[in-house]
Amino acid sequence: MRSPIEGYLRELHADLSRLRGGVPYQGIPAMAGVNPDEFAIALATVDGHVYQVGDTQSEFSIQSISKPFSYGLALDDLGAGPVDEKIDVEPSGDAFNEISLARDTGRPANAMINAGAIAAVSLIPEAPGATRFERILERFSLCAGRQLAVSEEIYHSEAQTGHRNRALAYLLRSFGIIETDPTRALEDYFRACSVMVTTPDLAMMAATLANAGSHPVTGVQAMGLDAVQRVLSVMTTCGMYDDAGAWMSTVGLPAKSGVGGGLIAVLPGQLGLAVYSPPLDAHGSSVRGVAACERMSRDMGLHFVRAARIGRSTVRGSYDVRAVPSAVRHSQAEEELLDAQGYRARIVELTGDLLFAGTESMVRAITELDPEVELVLLDVRRVDETDAVALAMMCELRDQLAEEGRVLGLIDEAGATSSHVCAEGDPLFTTRTEAVEWAEEQLLARYGGEHLSATEVDIPDFDVLAPLSTADIAVLEELMVPLQVQDGIFLRKTGENFGGVYFILSGKVTTSTSEGGHLVRHAMLGPGMTFGEIALGSGGDQVTQVTARGPVRLKLLGAQAIEQLEEQRPELALRLWKAVARDAYTLVEQNLREAAVRIGD
Ligand code: GLN
Repeated sequence: MRSPIEGYLRELHADLSRLRGGVPYQGIPAMAGVNPDEFAIALATVDGHVYQVGDTQSEFSIQSISKPFSYGLALDDLGAGPVDEKIDVEPSGDAFNEISLARDTGRPANAMINAGAIAAVSLIPEAPGATRFERILERFSLCAGRQLAVSEEIYHSEAQTGHRNRALAYLLRSFGIIETDPTRALEDYFRACSVMVTTPDLAMMAATLANAGSHPVTGVQAMGLDAVQRVLSVMTTCGMYDDAGAWMSTVGLPAKSGVGGGLIAVLPGQLGLAVYSPPLDAHGSSVRGVAACERMSRDMGLHFVRAARIGRSTVRGSYDVRAVPSAVRHSQAEEELLDAQGYRARIVELTGDLLFAGTESMVRAITELDPEVELVLLDVRRVDETDAVALAMMCELRDQLAEEGRVLGLIDEAGATSSHVCAEGDPLFTTRTEAVEWAEEQLLARYGGEHLSATEVDIPDFDVLAPLSTADIAVLEELMVPLQVQDGIFLRKTGENFGGVYFILSGKVTTSTSEGGHLVRHAMLGPGMTFGEIALGSGGDQVTQVTARGPVRLKLLGAQAIEQLEEQRPELALRLWKAVARDAYTLVEQNLREAAVRIGD
């Protein structure tokens, strides 16, 4: 089933495709000819699910999005102390290629601007058998979850024209910030910027940061947790250069842009976002990239202040109706049918807030259901806050299910969610009991033959009398009195003496007891079932109250008639009681089985 989250991204993509303005980066000749219309969005969750739209196959150079990952490698290799001595962690408020060095020490303001990033690369040591750049490329590849490669063309183009970066590197060397050969550091920095990625690669790299450094799919710890904490902190304050303040207010996520047109944003513990669109704004960030992040943050409540609440949201449980059978008493055949078909009706319980994470996990729980599940009952009674996207996605889920002949029902006590999602006539319940009764009824109607949905049962067809011969049954029927009652009539009251066995021919009754002043409903009985006999097991007194639900037709084998039978036809009376006992034990066994399922859950 198609995910509504992808639907949302597709709509956003179409909307923002109309956004013009900005120009692709002109500073590196090999990049100037890029197709400005390319546009992709990808979102990766920390459990490795990727949603993507647009030109997601297109590769482009990572450029400055390399900086947080190189910085992370330096931090992992050296620890924060030695790195901090060379590179500060303060926002410069300047453009990416500004010469933001401390007056006295020459220390770059942070590792997200070029000066700091070149210094960070210079700190990364070689390893036995691996050059510095091989180590950098390996690190990027681990974060992306696949082997990445460099565009030699872009590398050479920048190496030939990057005079300002060259000047920066020599300046850093003069201050002793770079202690090795500045041209080598510069080459490795240029190569790191020329690593080619796709938008889903970047989303995965961002999700690796969101996932405390562990790659969501491969599970490889690609960056240490201390480094991740530092990298995300610096991305928060410095990642968007001279636009960092406005970015934090509107989007509210640690982020990094690159002049290749890429942009990543990270919601720790939840997801990584990536957008690719080459035309850049005055800060050197993708115009559509910034707009897409603003929209997603607003629509899905991703700003860190709002997102803080989402940790509590989750799919609390997902189980089919067999785990919580209703108290409706079914015939043997109906029981068997519900046993076989019950997997087609599922309850999905939600809790917490339906902001991004809650909505995403709900949508996934539903779209990934077996397509044979045709009744989906969404229990939203424990949901606290629901944002507009969550409601829109529920509506979309409902419509998509409907297209496939499946049904979305809601269990919603207060009605806040259902008033937005449910149309007139949609299945809506205030309790799970009602929802399960409805689902069972639907399954019986959809999969039961005619005999199952019988609305009328004659005495010879009662399950309880099956062991008796036709002649015996005829004798018994002779002794019965027909009854007809209206809705709400009490057929049996608590405390009454044994009054005989009631056979329900048509209609429904409920049995209930009053506990602490409340009426607790136990079972719903229908055509083909009996009641009244259980009074014999409780000292002859009725323990439950039996009420007609709608008009009911019955036949009563009264207490006196039974006494008469015991005197005149003792063998038949014995056969009758045997049959009643057998029926009662079948029921007890069935109840025990259901109770076991409930405890097992
Ligand atoms: N390679 C580019 C440079 O150093 C990266 C700049 C960027 O993406 N902001 O100029």
